Amino acid sequence: MRFGRTLSPAATPIGWSEIYSGLKSIARRESECRRFADELCKYLGKRHCYLLSSGRAALTVALRALSALFPDKDRVLIPAYCCYSVPASIVRAGLKVVLCDVDAETMDFDTRQLSALLDDERLLCVVPVHLFGIPADVKRLRRILDGRDVPIVEDAAQVLGGKVDNSLLGTQGDIGLFSLGRGKPLTTVGGGILVTDDDAFAAAIKREMSRLEKTFAYGLFGQIASALAIKLLGVPGMFWLPRALPFLRLGETVYDPGFPIRQLSGFQAGLSRGWQMQLATSWGQRRKNTEVWLETLPAGLFRPKLPDQQPSLLRFPVVCVDEAQRKSVLKISDRDGLGLAPGYPDSIAGIPALKASFASERYPVARRMARQLLTLPVHSYVSSEDQGKIGRLLKTSTAAIKESEESRYMVGTEHRLLD
Ligand SMILES: *Cc1c(COP(=O)(O)O)cnc(C)c1O
Repeated sequence: MRFGRTLSPAATPIGWSEIYSGLKSIARRESECRRFADELCKYLGKRHCYLLSSGRAALTVALRALSALFPDKDRVLIPAYCCYSVPASIVRAGLKVVLCDVDAETMDFDTRQLSALLDDERLLCVVPVHLFGIPADVKRLRRILDGRDVPIVEDAAQVLGGKVDNSLLGTQGDIGLFSLGRGKPLTTVGGGILVTDDDAFAAAIKREMSRLEKTFAYGLFGQIASALAIKLLGVPGMFWLPRALPFLRLGETVYDPGFPIRQLSGFQAGLSRGWQMQLATSWGQRRKNTEVWLETLPAGLFRPKLPDQQPSLLRFPVVCVDEAQRKSVLKISDRDGLGLAPGYPDSIAGIPALKASFASERYPVARRMARQLLTLPVHSYVSSEDQGKIGRLLKTSTAAIKESEESRYMVGTEHRLLD
């Protein structure tokens, strides 16, 4: 077990002043939520905004709303490599998951598979995911949809405030989704946001929201405890402690459609006060750290294509040369507290509860990502010394592999991902 300075893969700080305003807002749920929703509408340039207890809850409500509008459609198309919360929300909404493999360059839908999957009368919607903050191409998706009556639910859970070509991610789909969970760009110790400009979708979402439980006391102590834990234990000097507690299951990806679905609480809405400043600062630091990775990472490591201008990454993804490299690098990172992390443990087709519905060989890139993808931290706690250590670790490890490859096969630079 490690006691010293330890980075988390994706830290999002909460300050005392936010906790104070959260506590003051416990009994003012409605007005605090209205304030936050109004600010979000203005910022994102959207007419309707709804606040829920988590990103999963928000996605489930959006899907239930669409399903009520199109009762004869029940399939939801998502990338085969993404956060397990996405299929969990689909199953929770009583719908069926349809998968499209991802493209290794873009981490977006593989367009060759995509077109065929869209010709499906029972397709309710498509959910592009801006994974780790790498923008999925929503405009292109809309072109490929080519006038079909299939809405786009844009999963920007990881990237509130992130941009591509100067437009905010999460604003191009018919419905936009953001998460306020731990480790997302902005956190209110759990929370989810839906935005839309479409009045019919908004009305349907509102109907679903009105059916939800109206008690907000439930979970309040947990929320306050989480906020304090993030404040006190989320810092590098203390993070070894929560990481060592097995019951917190930090860093584990769990597939669980049994999550609660509620509206955002007053405490959570109050925590959001000052969010625009916080986001601006945090994206500034993330972009600086991203620049450093772009400049220093060894050429032998494959990395997905990022936008040329100011990429907005939650974590910086690279693809290891092979599974063994990832394993050895993660071992050293765990020992030294460097905050490297794998992505998701398997493709969506490999989740035990869903496995029976999919032929997993149809999603080879998703599977490779699950085995080889590694993320580097870009959050505000990452120091240049941390970056030096991580950079050296990756350089040495990649050089060693290349060397042994060259001596074995007398060929060099071909990356195994592209085999
Ligand atoms: C985190 C996340 C979600 C779910 O958000 P929660 O607030 O954790 O429920 C959905 N989609 C993606 C891509 C995510 O990263």
